[in-house]
Amino acid sequence: MKHYKQFINGQFVNSTSTTVIEVLNPCTEEVISTIPTGSAADANLALEAATESQPAWEALPAIQRAAFLHKMATIIRENRVFLAETLAIEQAKVIGLAHVEIDVTADYFDYNAGWARRIEGEIIQSDREKEHIYLHKAPIGVAVGICPWNFPFFVMARKVAASLITGNTCVIKPSSEAPNTIMEFAELIQNIGLAPGILNFVCGSGSLIGNALSKSPLTGIISLTGSVFAGQQIITAAAENITKVSLELGGKAPAIVCSDANLDLAVKAIVSSKVIFSGQVCNCAERVYVQDDIYDEFVERLAKKMSEVTIDDALTGTDADMSSLVSKSQIDKISEMVEFAKKEGAEVLVGGKRSEQFDRGYYYQPTLLTNCTQQMEIIQEEVFGPVLPVMKFNTLDEAIALSNDCQYGLTSSVFSENFNNIMHATSKLQFGETYVNREHFEAMQGFHAGWKKSGIGGADGKHGMEEYLQTKVIYAHYR
Ligand code: NAD
Repeated sequence: MKHYKQFINGQFVNSTSTTVIEVLNPCTEEVISTIPTGSAADANLALEAATESQPAWEALPAIQRAAFLHKMATIIRENRVFLAETLAIEQAKVIGLAHVEIDVTADYFDYNAGWARRIEGEIIQSDREKEHIYLHKAPIGVAVGICPWNFPFFVMARKVAASLITGNTCVIKPSSEAPNTIMEFAELIQNIGLAPGILNFVCGSGSLIGNALSKSPLTGIISLTGSVFAGQQIITAAAENITKVSLELGGKAPAIVCSDANLDLAVKAIVSSKVIFSGQVCNCAERVYVQDDIYDEFVERLAKKMSEVTIDDALTGTDADMSSLVSKSQIDKISEMVEFAKKEGAEVLVGGKRSEQFDRGYYYQPTLLTNCTQQMEIIQEEVFGPVLPVMKFNTLDEAIALSNDCQYGLTSSVFSENFNNIMHATSKLQFGETYVNREHFEAMQGFHAGWKKSGIGGADGKHGMEEYLQTKVIYAHYR
């Protein structure tokens, strides 16, 4: 069993805390590693190292910074099987999807390296003679990246790659539930020649380490991917120094199925958007609105597809659609939400309880709920599990209103073969992302951003990279 240390200023060091957090394999409930609980002192050491190393890192031409990102991509590819297995074991991601996450992470480093020659400013016409107004994009300084457990490796890359290519240095805090793949990566890249302090990894409790990182005056930007609750805590901590925050938080994605939709495509896309990583994905379909004249047929098809979903051990069950949930607290929360939905009148068409297929682990059955109403908790609150509640609608405007009647605004989807319906829905839905006639899954060159309580700012593509830049304006007058 591995006992991870903090990676600060180019070295693995003991934490100043003496206690540890145990990391479990969710499929077997066995302890597989430990990480330090961490302390404010660890956070400060990492921030000081990042601050010290930042000016020299910024001074390097971006193309030289990019070379390090390419090296990281290469190392990930060389170790893809090991990293995918580590990921599968620590958070019960089926091995096929774990490989996808590892491969996409390598591509993500290469993609961001590609910005090296494309980070641009602007020259604006002045109202005065003999003057140019220059907009420069400069690094903010030290970027703190706080990661979730659901796509821990990829989300780490989202923060590291965008920080480093723009000339910031970086401190990453992995989730305590899934830190292993990130800490193995820290070991793998230890000797690529990156100067000490440019990239640091500090493990531990969110309320301790995460809070200390968020409220430090050394932090230039905090990028969190996590729950709304953690986002609120971070905004509060960041308020002390008016530190920039970039928050990618929870979602409650609606999928709207119009009567003119291709039903085969819609069923396949919605089930795939629900069961990927056992429903523990921020952009997962979380509620379905179906037009009344196709409702019965559609629900019947959805029920058939959901009941065909297979469950197995993440590492050894290579063909399974999904595996265990990540933790006991996650399965307890989901079970309670389904029980409460039943009390509120929901009908269970498929699943509805813990799977009895295994005697260890946190397996929950793929679940389809009907007879739901808009004010039910199961329609309003993020489930983050393989549970799909379905409701009926009459007009498209009604479906749009029901979709928007929610505190979250991350992703949404619409299924229709009618151009006017699609254009109307995409212009009215209050969500950062809308998928048309396809499953929910974003691309690295897009922009992943939430509306309402789903976040501030965003990641990916040009706009995600620019989150890490401070715009400076220079009024250059000459004689
Ligand atoms: P979480 O909020 O419990 O934890 C996320 C991270 O925040 C962890 O590293 C945690 O230690 C840290 N944290 C917790 N409290 C903190 C505090 N007070 N100060 C600083 N850091 C703190 O979330 P999770 O359970 O790891 O992930 C699930 C949630 O993340 C879901 O709501 C999901 O929708 C959301 N998520 C969103 C996206 C997105 O791109 N929008 C992607 C993945 C997950």
